[in-house]
Amino acid sequence: MKIETLALHTGVETDPHTGASSVPIYQASTFHQTDWDTAPEFDYARSGNPTRKALEHSIAQLEGAKHGFAFASGMAAITGVLLTFSAGTHIVACEDIYGGTYRALTRVFARLGIETTFVDATDPASIAAAIRPNTKALLLETPSNPTLQIIDLKKATELAKSRQLLTIVDNTFMTPYLQRPHELGIDVVIHSATKFLGGHSDVVAGLVTVLNDDLARDIYLIQNGFGGILGPQDCWLLMRGIKTLPLRMKQSQETASLIAGYLAEHPSVKKVYYPGLPTHPGREVHLGQAKGPGAVLSFDLENGERVRKFVERLKLPLFAVSLGAVESILSYPVKMSHASMPVEERNKRGITDGLLRLSAGLEDPEDLIADIEQALKG
Ligand SMILES: *Cc1c(COP(=O)(O)O)cnc(C)c1O
Repeated sequence: MKIETLALHTGVETDPHTGASSVPIYQASTFHQTDWDTAPEFDYARSGNPTRKALEHSIAQLEGAKHGFAFASGMAAITGVLLTFSAGTHIVACEDIYGGTYRALTRVFARLGIETTFVDATDPASIAAAIRPNTKALLLETPSNPTLQIIDLKKATELAKSRQLLTIVDNTFMTPYLQRPHELGIDVVIHSATKFLGGHSDVVAGLVTVLNDDLARDIYLIQNGFGGILGPQDCWLLMRGIKTLPLRMKQSQETASLIAGYLAEHPSVKKVYYPGLPTHPGREVHLGQAKGPGAVLSFDLENGERVRKFVERLKLPLFAVSLGAVESILSYPVKMSHASMPVEERNKRGITDGLLRLSAGLEDPEDLIADIEQALKG
């Protein structure tokens, strides 16, 4: 079944009582145990809730996985997966990783005896060189944030399998509509569902999918044991968002492509980062593992002063942290997601004072381009 169809018809099949068109919000923390002899499927809502179960089933289906888990945020999902590792474990992660993941690995997991080496994962040789006898996992994000670098997932998986490493991919930027890492052999897929899956800037949530039963048991132990679960209201909102995911992604991607093309031709724009552009060095690899370039692009306006004027004149996009919503969102990485990164490190990675990241929403593309045009004149 195609994902456009699946997104509408998955999850709802788990309410056998009424045939309701959407799964009810089971706003309950506990469940009456009717049968003395057999344990019920639901006993306490940290351990399981029917609304959450429907969402977990839905994301597993969309990612082509066997098991799904809903967490209170993307970070709860990522740390939930990382907590399955023991002290003495070494992880290899891509250096262009989400700031919160970097912070958790370097400031919390390092303290617990789980050590991480960050490498330029666009080069498989750098990954290979960082693997040690106690390396247990490879943690990747592609396209990366905010410079949209591409990691070859097939090559990374081959390497990881040959060294018995668990492969984990943060698929937030792509969603299962554009990229399905399990199909490429990835073991664990993670989402900040706060972004495209929810899609309306009104929920904070995280999702994890896996194929393997033992791995699912380990993750469930953390989900239930640490309790970073997603509440039923937010589960319901996510399922509502997921129904329009394919349509939203399709439109936002089209708009992002138009804007990237426009900016690439504009004399005041120094550089555009978007895997859909013919000049993008990772374009071929990306299009070999994903259905499209996505809805996020970054561009460099040369310096902070020009960024400030541009942002002050721009009217339509929200100027905010986050991405993946119905409304376009413009972020300034040096003051937002990457504020804590040392300047030299930032500049080395292209995260300069002139860099802006745009997540295209559902506004009319011509309106957005007209707005960008007038703001660039300033
Ligand atoms: C936002 C984001 C996260 C963190 O998710 P939260 O829902 O904010 O906790 C992780 N990874 C990526 C790529 C993100 O964009």
